Amino acid sequence: MKLLFELSRTGRGQDLLPLSDVPACEFGGELLRQAPPRLPEISEVDLERHYTELAKQTHGVNDGFYPLGSCTMKYNPHINEDMAALNGFTGIHPLQDENSAQGCLEVMYRTEQLLNEITGMDAMTFQPAAGAHGEYTGLMLIRAYHLSRNDTARTKIIVPDSAHGTNPASAAMAGFTVVSVPSNAQGGVDLEALKAAAGSDTAGLMLTNPNTLGLFDPNILEITRIVHEAGGLNYYDGANLNAVMGHVRPGDMGFDCVHLNLHKTFSTPHGGGGPGSGPVGCKKFLDEFLPEPRVVRDEGGALRFACPEHTLGKVRSFYGNFLVAVRALTYITVLGKEGIPEASETAVLNANYMMHKLKGHYDVAYDAACMHEFVLTLEKLKQETGVSAMDAAKRLLDFGMHPPTMYFPLIVHEALMIEPTETESRETLDRAVQVFLDILEEAKTDPEKLHEAPHTCPIGRPDEVGAARNPVLKYEFA
Ligand SMILES: *Cc1c(COP(=O)(O)O)cnc(C)c1O
Repeated sequence: MKLLFELSRTGRGQDLLPLSDVPACEFGGELLRQAPPRLPEISEVDLERHYTELAKQTHGVNDGFYPLGSCTMKYNPHINEDMAALNGFTGIHPLQDENSAQGCLEVMYRTEQLLNEITGMDAMTFQPAAGAHGEYTGLMLIRAYHLSRNDTARTKIIVPDSAHGTNPASAAMAGFTVVSVPSNAQGGVDLEALKAAAGSDTAGLMLTNPNTLGLFDPNILEITRIVHEAGGLNYYDGANLNAVMGHVRPGDMGFDCVHLNLHKTFSTPHGGGGPGSGPVGCKKFLDEFLPEPRVVRDEGGALRFACPEHTLGKVRSFYGNFLVAVRALTYITVLGKEGIPEASETAVLNANYMMHKLKGHYDVAYDAACMHEFVLTLEKLKQETGVSAMDAAKRLLDFGMHPPTMYFPLIVHEALMIEPTETESRETLDRAVQVFLDILEEAKTDPEKLHEAPHTCPIGRPDEVGAARNPVLKYEFA
């Protein structure tokens, strides 16, 4: 497929930008560019076709089943987009006076109240732009807390080996030493190993729950108690809240702070690089350290921006990705108090339904009732037929399905991590199960076909490592 620059023809014109409706501003000579920008010149219809062609080459939730584990690729209702597109929300300026932005402040305020209620927290910041960004912010809160008490020896963060990969990465980025604790035979945290790891140098624990095996740790109260007794704080990676919202709350399980992925659980399209939102909630004793600004109500009832007393500063410009909060508020309001727990129930039901149908054909990594996702291991299949998790995942593309998350979590060999989400019908799940069974049959009769899959996509197997390490992001003009 050609790039816009390659489709461009000099002289065809480029008038998609509207004429300026503000007075021109004169800059000094050294700030002016020497030559006009080399923008592609292309007609509107050719531009439309270019993007339509690009869209056809990708796979989104609107194209088909998208069971990408840990990513919660649920269908995002249109009403969220309708609300986020309202002029009053999109036309606002971040430096506008508070008095003229009361509606937008109300959105932030209400979204915070509702998410505090859902997580069992007392205060929340919407600044972080993604889940990992929230983790980093939460860890900065934990550090600020210990430093405020002159407790400088707490330099270690405990991270179970079933945590999401961003957990140890965020802890290291925030300047902590990461202490890994192993999982027990049931896929939960090994309590003896946790007790041995917790001590006077423990700043805190980061727990992904449900963990990346799709399991809810039954010892969760004991886990948070061990860390608190050692003087550490408990951080809850709540990106997987889709499994538990409306049923249990991190704040009731002994956690001091939590991040959410609004772009997963609370229904903003994601996967194309954003925008996302990873708000961080905390208990009252941590709120003085939250990033600024926060939205508070003054005595007169008006909403104002306020700066927490010992704020750790800003982790992003302005107020975070505000329109993602608009979508979350819409989603929560539409579902209501009954709909929120029902959504997580259905997510868990759908995952267990699929797991049950595949069990006995595929090996399930941990054979227990799962939460919103489950993990298959194709280790034995690979030994017997040579077909790997990668081969099976790539073959799914030929059936119009997005592959599950592959080779993750790291503690399971030849892993496929499947998260169907609550928005899929029983018919879609049944069809997906049938495709998985057909692929198993092919592995036994025609493994070559799987090694070469996909057969129907624009490209076969790209060099994924090369694409990540040496991305080509700029067009080189001849
Ligand atoms: C997706 C995810 C994250 C990271 O979120 P980003 O928005 O991608 O930074 C962290 N933890 C878990 C459990 C996740 O599923």
